[in-house]
Amino acid sequence: RSNYIVMSAVRSNSTSLCPVLTKFQKDCATPTPYLREVANAIADDMRAGLAVEGGGDLDMILSYVDALPSGNEEGLFYALDLGGTNFRVRSVQLGGEKERVVATESEQISIPHKLMIGTSEELFGFIATKLASFVAKEKPGRFRLEQGKERELGFTFSFPVKQTSIDSGTLIKWTKGFNVSGMEGKNVVACLNEAMAVHGLDMRVSALVNDGVGTLAGAKYWDEDVMVGVILGTGTNACYVEQKRVIPKLQSKSSSGTTIINTEWGGFSKILPRTIFDREMDEKSLNPGEHLYEKMISGMYLGEIVRRVLLQMCETTDLFGPFVPVKLSTPFALRTEHLCKIQEDKTDDLQIVGSVLYDILEVEASLEARRRVVEVCDTVIKRGGRLAGAGIVALLQKIEKDTKRMGSGKRTVVAMDGALYEKYPQYREYMQDALVELLGHKLASYVAIKHTKDVSGLGAALLAATNSIY
Ligand code: BGC
Ligand code: MG
Repeated sequence: RSNYIVMSAVRSNSTSLCPVLTKFQKDCATPTPYLREVANAIADDMRAGLAVEGGGDLDMILSYVDALPSGNEEGLFYALDLGGTNFRVRSVQLGGEKERVVATESEQISIPHKLMIGTSEELFGFIATKLASFVAKEKPGRFRLEQGKERELGFTFSFPVKQTSIDSGTLIKWTKGFNVSGMEGKNVVACLNEAMAVHGLDMRVSALVNDGVGTLAGAKYWDEDVMVGVILGTGTNACYVEQKRVIPKLQSKSSSGTTIINTEWGGFSKILPRTIFDREMDEKSLNPGEHLYEKMISGMYLGEIVRRVLLQMCETTDLFGPFVPVKLSTPFALRTEHLCKIQEDKTDDLQIVGSVLYDILEVEASLEARRRVVEVCDTVIKRGGRLAGAGIVALLQKIEKDTKRMGSGKRTVVAMDGALYEKYPQYREYMQDALVELLGHKLASYVAIKHTKDVSGLGAALLAATNSIY
């Protein structure tokens, strides 16, 4: 013990530079030319994925959504959104071109963690029960189901799914901390249908959509210029309107018109600035080796990367004194929302940083330690935001190459959803900087990033309407 204290005293004398931090900052750097290479590599993998199934890191999934909502949709439709720590149910009464959304109601239900790693029967049984009690509360005056019709549902399932039609698809793999057994290769709609039948719920799934597709469809309902839907939340993804003629793997006779592609860009893995901390986090994750881009840019992981860096700083340079705080050794103890609080601290003595560290990690941090913590957070957020920006640029440049819409002065809107984007101003700014750096001011001036909160539910309900069997 005394030995340890002496050693740490020696160490802390020589650590004013903090080699761990310096190296980390260097490894995470994303200067413009490098970021441009990342954008190009993502675009290359997009093309490879459109050419043949499994051609690149990006799955480039065909969504079977060719016709986007027109605005004329009418009737009562439901939406169910599963993909994060919550799931949401929504009812929408659509009133056609003039009235649009006449009435809508929604409810958010948190998913007990054990269901995220349990069996498919447990998960879908839980969902069907909650959905049934939501439907039971349907108000007859506000919502009108036409006689002789069954209720129809748009199912937003925010995981990589190999779609086989607009209303069926099989799970490719789980992401974001989900690992429900007995589902790989199974039709996710069948899982939901079985559970609904067991719970006596008379409802049919008319559309199975990714949350990115739902966001795009919902946002386009209000704004024709929406071409891309991006999710920056617990996980990340991007979906966009693609010209069928540039999709070689689409072996259909009619190659004119457009369709929505779900890129699953979270799976990108090339030339990323991965550090030892990223590697170790990945190894310990439920999906090692997969979704590496997602693990560097999305909300579920940013706090965990910071925790791992701080832990090493504690072990090598006595960041918080000679002991490693117990809490700092707990995986996922530090969350993205904590990083955000830390970065929002504008006080001279970093009081808020101090109290976050005290509340979450149970440490008393010196001013110098607080400054270092801020720097680690900023490094991770900057890298994440800029890499996300590079992804958006890859998409926009691809769209531009095939359509020339921005070049001809057309506004192009990226519909954005997810708590990370919504709640983290510094992340947003870093992302925006990267966009302008890579696109240039002129092209960037035609691009609007529009925060479209929770429109994926509306999008899914609309797609259920567009694909109604009646
Ligand atoms: C999934 C995507 C999803 C995204 C955002 C990712 O982990 O693979 O399908 O769209 O998270 O929810
Ligand atoms: Mg979501």
